Amino acid sequence: MEFAYFDAAATTPVCPEAAQAALEVMTGTFGNPSARYALGSAAAQRLQADRSCIASVLGCGLEELVFTSCGTEGDNWAVRAAAALGARRGRHIITTAIEHAAVLEPLRALEQEGWCVTRLKPDRTGHISVEAVQAALRPETVLVSMMLVNNELGTIQPVAKAVQAVKAYDRQILFHTDAVQGFLKIPFTPAELGVDLLTLSGHKIGAPKGIGVQYIRSGLSLPPFILGGGQEGGSRSGTEPTAQIAALAAACRAWKADYPARLAACKETALHALTQIHGLEVITSGDVPHICTVSLPGYPSEMLVRALGDRGVYVSAGSACHRGKPSHVFAALGLPKRNLMGALRISFSPQTTQNEIARLCTALREIMQERVPMK
Ligand code: PLP
Repeated sequence: MEFAYFDAAATTPVCPEAAQAALEVMTGTFGNPSARYALGSAAAQRLQADRSCIASVLGCGLEELVFTSCGTEGDNWAVRAAAALGARRGRHIITTAIEHAAVLEPLRALEQEGWCVTRLKPDRTGHISVEAVQAALRPETVLVSMMLVNNELGTIQPVAKAVQAVKAYDRQILFHTDAVQGFLKIPFTPAELGVDLLTLSGHKIGAPKGIGVQYIRSGLSLPPFILGGGQEGGSRSGTEPTAQIAALAAACRAWKADYPARLAACKETALHALTQIHGLEVITSGDVPHICTVSLPGYPSEMLVRALGDRGVYVSAGSACHRGKPSHVFAALGLPKRNLMGALRISFSPQTTQNEIARLCTALREIMQERVPMK
């Protein structure tokens, strides 16, 4: 089926290189990496090569990476494990009001267990200030979790500067960043950011769903996520998902250096075309190259997403994980209700075409001609 896809921040198709790598490992080097015979050793070698590839993209040591099943798992583990490590020193955590549910929900669970959580509000442009982080620090703070790139607004948060401020206050406070939407789209390494923990997910960059990466700074020993056979340095037991890992490494290798520029050019073209539509407002053009948010005041987002979908044009009303509930991120911006109502996240992949952009604009115009805006 032919369609126009503008939801790459939700997920991406698996790139051919990743699919090929997964197939090779599923049918060729399929052995259990722990098995002590040639097929097992071949699988272990392949796993090591794939791990090295991802470590070199992140500029970190092999022992600093743990493969997980997804970004949600990594975020949950980071927050829960950092809290468990710090519990004897204090029970205060700082985060932002615009984190993904994968961070906010485990924090809500910790609150129910007696923890105190400060959620910093963004300014009208969707940015959290370092000063706000500084002001929220307390002697009993043990963790700061601040995302690198917001998934709905595409805003980049000042993680490196916030880490400096937090560590200057107390070196023992752990800093976690959810870098799921930043990976390969903007340049960073965990060391440059100075974070202790960093979470990634494969399916946003052309790898399949079911693979994530957790960076754990060397020297930091987290309570294990899964106990068992001792794989992943004992941190996350379970036979390694070698095919997904191979696919992730292949997707990283296939990601070309000019993709961010290509994404940015695509977004610029789309925003130029979209702003010709009468009444359309740009909520944020995003700091990252692949995400922007627009609004059609008077037209409910859910209706727009459905009506666009009926025309084979796929966009999101906000984070794909909200399932119809109003987005906490847009709400935190303090936007007028009318703008909130018609907000759409448009996100791009390196494969987005000019034709797809034209189809999006035509479909929006058709919908506006068919329907009367709400007052
Ligand atoms: N964090 C952010 C910022 C995301 O955008 C997402 C997915 O949309 C996640 C975490 C969750 O990742 P996953 O879908 O791999 O669980």
